[in-house]
Amino acid sequence: MAKINKNYLKLPGSYLFSAIGKKVNDYKEANPDANIIRLGIGDVTRPIAPAIIDTLHGAVNEMGEEASFRGYAPDLGYEFLRKAISDFDYKSRNCDISADEIFVSDGAKCDCGNIQEIFGMNNTIAVCDPVYPVYVDSNVMAGRTGDYDAETGRYDGVIYLPCTADNGFVPELPKEVPDLIYLCFPNNPTGAVIDKTRLQEWVDYANKNDSIILYDAAYESYISEDDIPHSIYECEGAKECAIEFRSFSKTAGFTGLRLGYTVIPKELETEGEKLWPLWARRHGTKYNGAPYIIQRAGEAVYSKEGRRQVMEQIAYYMGNAKYIYDGLKDCGYEVYGGVNAPYIWLKTPDKMTSWEFFDYLLKKANVVGTPGVGFGPKGEGYFRLTAFGSRENTLAAIDRIKTL
Ligand code: PLP
Repeated sequence: MAKINKNYLKLPGSYLFSAIGKKVNDYKEANPDANIIRLGIGDVTRPIAPAIIDTLHGAVNEMGEEASFRGYAPDLGYEFLRKAISDFDYKSRNCDISADEIFVSDGAKCDCGNIQEIFGMNNTIAVCDPVYPVYVDSNVMAGRTGDYDAETGRYDGVIYLPCTADNGFVPELPKEVPDLIYLCFPNNPTGAVIDKTRLQEWVDYANKNDSIILYDAAYESYISEDDIPHSIYECEGAKECAIEFRSFSKTAGFTGLRLGYTVIPKELETEGEKLWPLWARRHGTKYNGAPYIIQRAGEAVYSKEGRRQVMEQIAYYMGNAKYIYDGLKDCGYEVYGGVNAPYIWLKTPDKMTSWEFFDYLLKKANVVGTPGVGFGPKGEGYFRLTAFGSRENTLAAIDRIKTL
């Protein structure tokens, strides 16, 4: 008899966004005239920038000509894209990351999930609480955690790093030393950032304890303040202890096109083994590369015109973020994030739970957000709104909330 992977059975109920989707659908069925505004799921709404669309058209045409047709992409990604990434995302920030330390993929979600395959089962993982659920769930599927405890909302064997208003949503160094540490800054869901001193402390801690940091910088392009690190490799010694994930999804609106990359420095090793060849082997064996036309589109993001246009889009979303942040503050809410990240994290009023506030907002304002508890127990009593809606919807949603 075929056997299933029983680790999947440890995952509780439905994934957060399916639970939200069901609640919204039920409400819509009962109230067909409701004009619902969704500021819940972190998906972009602006169309792809014209400079990137032009490049996409050109690349599609190339695929129709014998002379320029391309088949499988190189395992690590096309050199033209990896070089652009190395130059613009790293060398321009004095980070010594070369093109062949970059692995192009179809997004950061798969990379964050898949990376644990190159690590043994007996690693302990540490995650922030609240957290982007993929880090935990992918380790549950792999069997690297114990059972889920519905009462605490936690898995046995996982080290949770509380991120609260008291610590500015930046975790403290844990006493029990984890082998793998997931960090994400700018943070989803809290919108918090980490300054260089604090990040350097994490790098030093990892180097001292032989831990590896898995650093998710998917929202790096939303950093607006100076002296916030854009990459973990801005810290000294990070090449000896950190892997970094990046995505084109929120930087350039590629959630539908699909493109991301992972950086594994050549010197990064543990147990005397380099990690670069392991990930190269995994990549080459289980993945056949992001499409040529999409990698060309990625290259166009780094062109002069491309950069100008994507910066405009980011400014548009951050204009929304400011409207949400200021609007909620004006109504007396306790609000976080929204300055270096497209997420606004608010404390629910009147001691409402996250889901009570979700229902309240859905019914009274027809606005959908994400209950903080869906990201972990320390998210209870918080709520996430995203700045990725259209300007019109964002203004309308906040104006509705203001009248409550
Ligand atoms: N990492 C974080 C923290 C995210 O919030 C998201 C998307 O919401 C991703 C990664 C996924 O990125 P991608 O679209 O490249 O898979």
